[in-house]
Amino acid sequence: MSARRRVRIWLIAVAAGAGLISVVAIGLWALNEPQLATVRTGQPPALAVKAGIQPLHGPWVVAVQPGHWEIAQLPSELARLRDNTGAVYGSVREVDINKAVANALVMKMEALGWTVMLVPATVPPELRADAFVAIHADSTDGDLARRGWKLSSPWRASPDSRALAASLRSAFSREANLVEDTDGITVNMHGYFAFNNRRFVHAISPYTPAVIIELGFISNSVDRALLTRRPDFWADIILTGLESYFASLNRHDVAALRPLELPWVAAGAQGVAVRRAPSEDSAVLWTLGPGTVLLPVDVSGSWYEVFVRRRFATGWVPKSEVFVTSDPHWPMPGERGYAPAGR
Ligand SMILES: [Zn+2]
Repeated sequence: MSARRRVRIWLIAVAAGAGLISVVAIGLWALNEPQLATVRTGQPPALAVKAGIQPLHGPWVVAVQPGHWEIAQLPSELARLRDNTGAVYGSVREVDINKAVANALVMKMEALGWTVMLVPATVPPELRADAFVAIHADSTDGDLARRGWKLSSPWRASPDSRALAASLRSAFSREANLVEDTDGITVNMHGYFAFNNRRFVHAISPYTPAVIIELGFISNSVDRALLTRRPDFWADIILTGLESYFASLNRHDVAALRPLELPWVAAGAQGVAVRRAPSEDSAVLWTLGPGTVLLPVDVSGSWYEVFVRRRFATGWVPKSEVFVTSDPHWPMPGERGYAPAGR
């Protein structure tokens, strides 16, 4: 994509998010800065409004991020991910697939009159959109028969984020030639760095519904043929998912944009058994000692799904066996002991 086209897409995005005055200002600025270096790595105008959640206006706004694209330009807070250049299998590079599918999707969305942003690895801080879609593909050194798509919302997903994921999941499920990589969703997908506005400045707004999609495995011959030869096939599936999401989206229901708010908790005096599913009949994954701090990421009835940092994994605990704590122990950016995490 040309720099000029990127400028145009960016300006449309700004127009949608920040209003005409900003467009004039940024338009003048863009004329003086054809390299776009500042837009892509620095501090663009805030698209999120600090006081309350403002509904977006105009055509649907979609941000598409081809995974690993321009990853080397990540800012210092994400420096340790700069070498995360994506999967490779023989001469096939994941990043090329991600870009081809994203470009095909952008063209289809522009044809519908939507406002489209093609976002590099460096996400403009507090990016607001009706949907943020990160496109990736997998590879494995082990089981070459393993194939299939999977997709995930951020941790503590908002109702709209969950609805977006459900619409996309249903679009993928309808494809007879595809299979779902069930149980393949990882902590790193939920905690994808572009979602992680708790830790990083260069992340989407908490009020941007988002998904990360792993289209398939380049290490599998069936998936690889579809991934390398048919970007439009994948773009059409994603477009179908977005259209069905937008068909039932009420932009003025801003409460549905709010992520799940859950307290930090710690294991009670007896410790706590972390289970695979929210049920006493489910297998125990680990037993944690009293006081172990846990980050709830989801809720189901009387159970929390918690992230267990030492295991870098999640499981379920009964609410009655943990207590709410205001001391998270896990340092935040700028605090001593802070270490960026989340790929
Ligand atoms: Zn990837």
